[in-house]
Amino acid sequence: MAIEKVEKIWMNGKLVPWDEAKVHILTHALHYGSGVFEGIRAYQTDKGPAVFRLTDHIKRLFRSAKIYSMEIPFSVEDLIEATKSTVRENKVESCYIRPVVFRGYGGMGLNPTSVPVDVAIAIWPWGAYLGEESLEHGVRVKISSFRRNEPNAIPPAAKACGQYLNSILAKLEVTAAGYDEAVLLNSQGYVSDGSGENIFAVRNGTIATPPIASGALEGITRDSIIKIAQDKGYKVRMRYMVRTDLYLADELFFTGTAAEVVPIHSVDDREIGDPGPITRDLQKTFFKAVKGEEPKFI
Ligand code: PMP
Repeated sequence: MAIEKVEKIWMNGKLVPWDEAKVHILTHALHYGSGVFEGIRAYQTDKGPAVFRLTDHIKRLFRSAKIYSMEIPFSVEDLIEATKSTVRENKVESCYIRPVVFRGYGGMGLNPTSVPVDVAIAIWPWGAYLGEESLEHGVRVKISSFRRNEPNAIPPAAKACGQYLNSILAKLEVTAAGYDEAVLLNSQGYVSDGSGENIFAVRNGTIATPPIASGALEGITRDSIIKIAQDKGYKVRMRYMVRTDLYLADELFFTGTAAEVVPIHSVDDREIGDPGPITRDLQKTFFKAVKGEEPKFI
């Protein structure tokens, strides 16, 4: 997907012109994937752009860095302020925000402890990740033959750069076969999540989503949807799911910062159908929440 250029990118403490936000070819993370990142959105509100659950995203960035023993040379508060100023200075109404913390230039090899840690925050306007149509009509998904990373190989609990090779394999496989998005099972065969989204299934009025231990990312949209659903009085269960739980669902949907809340129309060509009433209800409230119209879910 093309990137729409804005004016400035925050790098290691200051805003620099977009075209000057560069790294050396011997950047450690380019060779070994040794970075962690976040995906955040700012939405247009009456009071200007508002970043949805910024503190939770920055805290997850620090948790990802902890898993890889990366010392971030800034505080949570510093990166919250840096994110806000990057959005403000670029004068956008809404945008996607990509903070990235990576092992930079100054050493090679697999012991990265002497390599400096760099931090950047880029923003750009980004519409619906799976297409505007997807929000209305849903997507066609396929279960990938690639399994989700094992927690004892490359922990899915982190949002680490190199780990996304796994999602890229899945995405390439299913899009080449004509589907919109991939679902990954873990190595035991339980459903984990999409290539970049959490998944929810509704059956007989009860909403279920795989637990984090199944290899799903601790999604912030997932958490918002759970809170919204519980507040509306729906039963929500975190439980292990197999592929047939997806085939036999009354409703299915993805959640994610980039994707937002996207209904799933079919899985492996088993029809789920048009977006159901619970999906619609949660989607509607979610879009109000991100625009600041549902203060209890901000
Ligand atoms: N699973 C994976 C693998 C992801 O990459 C993402 C996107 N960060 C999600 C789930 C959804 O997480 P969030 O709602 O925090 O964006």
